Amino acid sequence: MTKFNRTLVTTALPYANGPVHIGHLAGVYVPADIYVRYLRMKGEDVLLIGGSDEHGVPITIKAKKEGITPQDVVDKYHNIIKDSFKKFGISFDVYSRTSSKVHHETATEFFKTLYDKGEFTEKTSEQFYDADAKQFLADRYITGTCPHCKYEKAYGDQCESCGTTLNATDLIDARSAITGNKPELKETKHWYLPLDKYEPFLKEWILEEHKEWKPNVYGQCKSWLDNGLHPRAVTRDLNWGVPVPIEGADGKVLYVWFDAPIGYISATKELTPDWEKYWKAKDTKMVHFIGKDNIVFHCIIFPAMLKAEGSYILPDNVPSNEFLNLEGDKISTSRNWAVWLHEYLEEFPEKQDVLRYVLTANAPETKDNDFTWKDFQARNNNELVAIFGNFVNRALVLTHKYFGGIVPQAGELTDFDKETLAQIPVIKAEIEKNLDTYHFREGLKVAMSLARLGNKYLADTEPWKVIKTDEARVKTILNISLQISANLSTLMEPFLPFTAEKLRGFLNIDRIEWADVTADALDAGHQINKPELLFEKIEDATIQAQVDKLEATKVANELENRVVTPVKENISFDDFMKMDIRVGTIIDAEKVAKTKKLLKITVDTGVDTRIVVSGIAEHYKPEEIIGKQVSLLMNLEPRKLKGIESQGMILMAEDADGKLAFVSPDKAVTAGSEIR
Ligand SMILES: [Zn+2]
Repeated sequence: MTKFNRTLVTTALPYANGPVHIGHLAGVYVPADIYVRYLRMKGEDVLLIGGSDEHGVPITIKAKKEGITPQDVVDKYHNIIKDSFKKFGISFDVYSRTSSKVHHETATEFFKTLYDKGEFTEKTSEQFYDADAKQFLADRYITGTCPHCKYEKAYGDQCESCGTTLNATDLIDARSAITGNKPELKETKHWYLPLDKYEPFLKEWILEEHKEWKPNVYGQCKSWLDNGLHPRAVTRDLNWGVPVPIEGADGKVLYVWFDAPIGYISATKELTPDWEKYWKAKDTKMVHFIGKDNIVFHCIIFPAMLKAEGSYILPDNVPSNEFLNLEGDKISTSRNWAVWLHEYLEEFPEKQDVLRYVLTANAPETKDNDFTWKDFQARNNNELVAIFGNFVNRALVLTHKYFGGIVPQAGELTDFDKETLAQIPVIKAEIEKNLDTYHFREGLKVAMSLARLGNKYLADTEPWKVIKTDEARVKTILNISLQISANLSTLMEPFLPFTAEKLRGFLNIDRIEWADVTADALDAGHQINKPELLFEKIEDATIQAQVDKLEATKVANELENRVVTPVKENISFDDFMKMDIRVGTIIDAEKVAKTKKLLKITVDTGVDTRIVVSGIAEHYKPEEIIGKQVSLLMNLEPRKLKGIESQGMILMAEDADGKLAFVSPDKAVTAGSEIR
């Protein structure tokens, strides 16, 4: 194993066309922050790098839609994102942006180096062009049907349904996202990175040398490599981005996925003149925290770029998570189906750690997971309040009550005391093992087991009873409880930094380094402060308000997507009166053999009993409609369906999704009542 002397941690650059939501946090930023805080506490040399990704087509589309400039769009969201990360305690050493000067210079230089080395191939090809909009249709400017999964809203660069990366010309029935026009093909020149050339190297490096990568990451890479890599264009016809720095490339910029990962380098440059040590020294460990939609860019394309450049190191690990869903539905910026960080921070003041806790305890490390507000409440009330908070509160309050807030001297330890204290180093080692291998969910669970241990210790030793007979014993019990509390403030620090700080305040201590987690972290005689509650209960009404908010989003989305059929031409009263519509009662119903949709229905119409064939079998079971009163168009010409003569038509209401419902009187009426 390589001996590393420093660690460079990068986090996927959030795209500056919207704020950050819980899916981003659970997938990337919370685990990265836990990892970095842990390494810092161990005294290691580590940097946490982040920044906003501000180029690419979605930003230009958004600007066009809102009638503002792309710069306006990215300024707005960069500030929201940066601010909310800071308030949430994501401890970036630098949070930069790709529209910055240093990034444009760095990306330009990177491209030029590869260009001068002859690493690119130039190719003129036919690309989609929108003649009305007078521009080429790169990436998301084009939509169409995915050739692999037939999803109808695939983009020119990727199908979000099956995850395949695409070339725009692969799309079936492609349309311009600007005008909706069928685009024409027009010749244009671009520069390609021949990924196929790096295939043997990537196979060796990932498939042979990095078998320890998470199975979801390794598996996706393997499938890409097994399918064979192809040259990929790294430039685009677009006016927003880093201009292609060579002659004859007017109106072209670097592909956003070429320039974005270089943003990690630019941000490090912005942070320290010593940046090369972190990017080029062989004893630097580089780790990319990303979501699963970015695996191909961080494991295949960026490493190929770095390898082509020649002077950079490659990542040692790419711990990517799966996706977090929200209340059973995929999180979506465009559908506003998300819990937005900046809103959470306003609606749940001082509760950063509750969200950090829930997102880590429920992290989508190995499979997609679901965030629900009920679970959020339960984890807060049943775990943070009832276990962690309760233990600490009891230990501190009793110390004040019996000993004036002074850490008492422990007397002789019982076997139970010794066993309890012996757990501290075991738990510490177990947390280390998990964090060193990017198992954050399990790491938190182990850290919580120390709070559980403390809670159980107090419940078993019952100092509030023992105080009546044996004060010396209570001194020992509380001394041990306070040692556990002090160590909790250290071992919880990577996960719950705000809580750890609060707890240190109660204990009146400075931060303890990771190495100093021991059974006697507090000296006898030390004065502690008056404690407040570490966590507060979250009430049902608070949770209901969040559920209602999501429900309102759902309704708004439905309204937005509702397709309303235009009103038909006027008709005369006489025309209407020609129709004979009456209330009938269904007296029998059965499925028409060998059909999926048809029911043979017998209706008592008041004047006769007749048979109607109706296409409602996918909506109603025969037995559930018998006895129902319905509206029947009596004088529709009879027609034969599957050999059965249908005498009339039962009227149905049909919504945009094709859902059918009977039109029935709101109270029982005599069969045969006329409807007019
Ligand atoms: Zn697809």
